[in-house]
Amino acid sequence: MRKQIAAANWKMNLTLQQGEELLKGILANAKTLNENQQVIFAVPSPYLQAANTIVGETKNNFVAAQNIYSKKSGAYTGEVSVEMLQSLNIQFAVIGHSERREYFGESNTFLADKVNIALENNITPIFCCGEPLEVREAEGQNAFVAKQLEESLFHLSSEEIKKVVIAYEPIWAIGTGKTATSEQAQEIHQYLRSVIANKYGATTADEISILYGGSVKAANAKELFSQPDIDGGLVGGAALKVDEFVSIIDALN
Ligand code: 13P
Repeated sequence: MRKQIAAANWKMNLTLQQGEELLKGILANAKTLNENQQVIFAVPSPYLQAANTIVGETKNNFVAAQNIYSKKSGAYTGEVSVEMLQSLNIQFAVIGHSERREYFGESNTFLADKVNIALENNITPIFCCGEPLEVREAEGQNAFVAKQLEESLFHLSSEEIKKVVIAYEPIWAIGTGKTATSEQAQEIHQYLRSVIANKYGATTADEISILYGGSVKAANAKELFSQPDIDGGLVGGAALKVDEFVSIIDALN
C-alpha cells in the first residue's frame, strides 16, 4: 500500500522561533499516525537541524529540505548538498517546486540531475510538477505534466522511481485560494499514474504516492484526500497555522 502523506512547505517564511512553536504546536495536537501515514515538514535550510531535533522524538514525522543542488559538494556558494542533508539525518528533499522552476530557471533536465543525486544518497525526492494557467486554459495540462515526468524521472529504473514521491501542483492553484476541484485533481492524478503505468507497469505505478498541492486547507483536504489517486497533499499557506495543518493531517486516509 502506498503511503498517505501530509507535507508542509513553509517556503521562505517564519523565524526560527516561530517555526519551532508551529512545529511543536502541530505535533502536540495532531493524531497518532499509522504505519501507512507520514507527515513531512519542508522547512528553510537554516532550520533543518532544529526542526529535525523536535520531530526526531515522534513517529512517522519527518523533515525535508525545500531544495538541493545537483552536485555532492564543491565550489557552489550558497547551495545545499545531499551530503549535508545526510549529515543532519534528513531523508527528504522537495525537488522542482514551480517557484524554483519559475524564479531560478530550473529545467526538467537539471531536475533530473537533482533526482539522481538524491536517490544515490538515500534522500527521497518529493518531485513537483504542474502546469501554468495558460496551459490549463488551452487544455494542455496532461501533455505538459507528462513531459515533466518523462524528462526528469523516466530515465530511472522501476526500483528507483518507486522511491520518488510526486506532488502535482497546478501553478494557478498555488497561493491563489483557487483549488482544483477534487474531480479535476483526481482526473490528472489518475492520468499521471497511467503515464507511469505505461512506462513501468501498473504494479510500480500503484506504489507511488502522488500528492496534490495548491490551496489545500482544512476545509477541502478531506474531499481531496478521499480521491482514489490522491495520496495526500503538499501544503503551503495552510501549513503555517497549527489548527489548519492539524486538520489536514487528520484528513489523511
Ligand atoms: P499553497 O498551499 O499556499 O497554495 O501552496 C502550495 C505549494 O506551493 C506547496 O508547495
